[in-house]
Amino acid sequence: MSHRAYLDWNATAPLLPAAREAVLAALDLVGNPSSVHAEGRAARAKMEQARADVAALVGGEAENTVFTSGATEAANALFSAGLSGCCGKDIACSLVPMVSAIEHAAVIASAGRDARVIPVDAKGVINAAALTAILAEAGPALVAAQLANNETGVVQDIPVLADIVHAAGGALIVDAVQAPGRIAVDISALRADALILSSHKFGGPKGVGAIVFPDSRTRLARTFIAGGGQERGQRGGTENLPGIAGMGAAAQAVLSAQDVPRKMSQLRDEFESRLNRLAPEARILSEGAPRLPNTSCFAIPGLTAEKALIAFDLDGVAVSSGSACSSGKVKASHVLAAMEQPDWVRTGAIRVSIGPTTTEEELERCLSSLERQLSRRAKMDAA
Ligand code: PLP
Repeated sequence: MSHRAYLDWNATAPLLPAAREAVLAALDLVGNPSSVHAEGRAARAKMEQARADVAALVGGEAENTVFTSGATEAANALFSAGLSGCCGKDIACSLVPMVSAIEHAAVIASAGRDARVIPVDAKGVINAAALTAILAEAGPALVAAQLANNETGVVQDIPVLADIVHAAGGALIVDAVQAPGRIAVDISALRADALILSSHKFGGPKGVGAIVFPDSRTRLARTFIAGGGQERGQRGGTENLPGIAGMGAAAQAVLSAQDVPRKMSQLRDEFESRLNRLAPEARILSEGAPRLPNTSCFAIPGLTAEKALIAFDLDGVAVSSGSACSSGKVKASHVLAAMEQPDWVRTGAIRVSIGPTTTEEELERCLSSLERQLSRRAKMDAA
């Protein structure tokens, strides 16, 4: 067994060997992708191959894919520049910004303080009837709804939400960051007007992401980063070729590893049944709703996430509380608040998220640590 059990794949996934190789090879490409000479053309060819691979990951086309520095930038671009060309018209910033209550902080912050918020139920499923009602009152909106939640793994019925948004004359942004390698993503089937991806969540390098549009008419309504006209004039600046090449290689690897989700869901289900035997009072968040196969978010009465994370870490197990916070501190989760979970769940939620190379032994190590923590607590309670 290795020294550590890394069970925090929703925060970031380890770099895939193929992505590492692609990054290193691209570092040696001397040309600027915008240059017309042979060196420039070689760099451009590498970038366009990666663009095709990233687009293919979500059933899209290379020409409709824009590289960014990550999902956070993608969300900022979409809400600040707006969209044009979708639904056959030039709808842009005049649309009312709207987000589900469980969007990632990057999306909520991008939508701005005035964004309307769509509630979710206790399992974290977006309330479609509430969306219809809010749209009827607010008018056409630029709505962000995530495909899968980073904390609980709950998966939304995006096509249904897209139909509601479109019927009200709006457009739908889908944050699909947590989906690749876990569930299939097809931009046409989702009926999304823009889809957001982040390389480091599926084995590519950090600091690179993409927006995929469903067709060549749909694009940012105006330039998001002014510069040399790169990325079809939408995002200027010499492209991050090593990052983009790594993201492309990771996308290719994910598409060729079709049996991984089934393997992960077996491991996750086994983990949860053993968790239930160890602590029958545990609450598993979003249980019974459609969920990613790799995510288990649970709380046990009397166990606080802040203390548990330290104990897990000392036992060589990397897990997370509901949401990772940039300051490194455990922060109350807006997702669990939106799900109207009681205090003991909000302060106690622990997220175990696994990946293609996770082993039974790693999950065993996590459960043994938990068992020790529970017995220490029982001894303290008895003292
Ligand atoms: N959306 C979701 C669902 C995420 O989990 C994350 C990453 O934490 C982001 C957006 C932001 O992605 P990035 O790290 O590429 O900015």
